[in-house]
Amino acid sequence: MIRRIGILTSGGDSPGMNAAIRAVTRTALSNGIEVVGIKDGYRGLYEGNFMSMKKTDVSDILDRGGTKLGSARLKEFKDVKVQEKCVENLKKSGIDAIVVIGGDGSYRGALALTKLGINCIGLPGTIDNDIPGTDYTIGFDTALNTVVEAVDKLRDTSSSHHRCSVVEVMGNHCGDLALWAGISCGAEIVVTPETGYDEVEILEKLMYLDRNVNKNHAIVIISEKMTHVEDLANKISNHTGFSGRATVLGHIQRGGSPTPFDRVLASRMGEKAVDLLMAGVGGHCVGILENKIISMPIEEALSTLKTSRKQLYRLFDRLV
Ligand code: ATP
Repeated sequence: MIRRIGILTSGGDSPGMNAAIRAVTRTALSNGIEVVGIKDGYRGLYEGNFMSMKKTDVSDILDRGGTKLGSARLKEFKDVKVQEKCVENLKKSGIDAIVVIGGDGSYRGALALTKLGINCIGLPGTIDNDIPGTDYTIGFDTALNTVVEAVDKLRDTSSSHHRCSVVEVMGNHCGDLALWAGISCGAEIVVTPETGYDEVEILEKLMYLDRNVNKNHAIVIISEKMTHVEDLANKISNHTGFSGRATVLGHIQRGGSPTPFDRVLASRMGEKAVDLLMAGVGGHCVGILENKIISMPIEEALSTLKTSRKQLYRLFDRLV
């Protein structure tokens, strides 16, 4: 029987984290369980930076990006002594279980705490959509909307000047943002960790589009860290008929008011987390698979590869 749960957000923030905080808080309170907000992820857990959460403490946050609780990275949390100090803090404050909203690193922390006797449930909060065990992460849809809006605008100006826009989007280990945006915006080329980077192939394709297809603009969407986009844009100017221009969307992709999809997803996942904790489950993460909210052991999720995107890459190729 749990009487008091904690909630924290960890790793990079994402739009919709607040909706999840609200759903966890209100679902728990409506079941007679007290809620404690833990500030700044595992750092707040270590420092005992806790705040009691009432129903009104989560008013007016549903439509806000970022996270009301703050987020942080605490490398030292991998040390079992640090984890034990956190468990001590939790016990002193009467917190029986925790909901952790974050990425796979945060999941590993949640698993470690569960093994030390504090049941934890992980919710996937990141714009990159790179967490296994779920089709969508909280924040992906909002970030995708931001990217699509930006690329649509770039296309307007590119077609007036016979330009090729090279747009760098987030997604260090996962190309979903680039791929989904590529399909949504009718990009000519997407470059992601899954496709790999082949500069000669990109330049040849653009030359072909310029000479043989008579395109008056082109869009290349590229995941971060694949290459230096300014260099690529210069090479496009030097070797193809297009004038290359690079745009790095950067952190604007992390902000903004969450879309209704992300708000509903976060709310459904937050409710599920509390249901699991009330049923005595720990060490699980929540996901959405084929539009059903599910949970699975964190260890299982972390050992599964994210479902292949082959069909979407094939679709992209067919539509260019
Ligand atoms: P993002 O997707 O935004 O990077 P993340 O949750 O994967 O989110 P990380 O920086 O990897 O971000 O992890 C967040 C925090 O989780 C770390 O600062 C650390 O406190 C904790 N953490 C990460 N890996 C582990 C681990 N192996 N064991 C225990 N705790 C961990």
